[in-house]
Amino acid sequence: MINEAAIQSATKTIIEAIGEDPTREGLVDTPRRVAEMYTELFSGLNMDPTEELNVGYELGHREMVIVKDIPFYSMCEHHLLPFFGVVHVGYVPDITGRVVGISKLARVVEVIARRPQIQERMTTQIADAIDEGLGPQGVAVVVQAEHMCMVMRGVKKPGSNIITSAIRGMFRNRPASRAEFFSLIQSNNNK
Ligand code: ZN
Repeated sequence: MINEAAIQSATKTIIEAIGEDPTREGLVDTPRRVAEMYTELFSGLNMDPTEELNVGYELGHREMVIVKDIPFYSMCEHHLLPFFGVVHVGYVPDITGRVVGISKLARVVEVIARRPQIQERMTTQIADAIDEGLGPQGVAVVVQAEHMCMVMRGVKKPGSNIITSAIRGMFRNRPASRAEFFSLIQSNNNK
């Protein structure tokens, strides 16, 4: 579990280490605020995203399902700065046609985003969670994100989008399905 007291004292140490005064009015409650915020932002560490897919599914849909533009906010583990953007998910249900609501997929994304992350692993974990939780014939996940550690510091490249993808099952072996998925998510980007 997350140790809020330890985050508070560490935050106070950082404030002192940059030469600021942790007792001045604007900063005196900052360690508490940061501890509460990190507890929320990293709440996905202690959760299993596949549990979101255990309930509420329906049967009978055998065609590809695509959910575009699921928003997410995560924290890059190299700098503890936000990266954020959208996730596009496509899957082909199992032979019973098992599908879940959009809110369940959004929850899977949220649980996995609320951890110290790198975008590549986040993408893989989303694909694996859907693969494991739904047992579909195939899954494809694309993540488009902007990283504050690239915008605010270092190379300073505002607006640069990083795109990652993870492909499982029939999307791997069937180029036509893969092409259909990528063309459907692309059409959205041009609007
Ligand atoms: Zn970073």
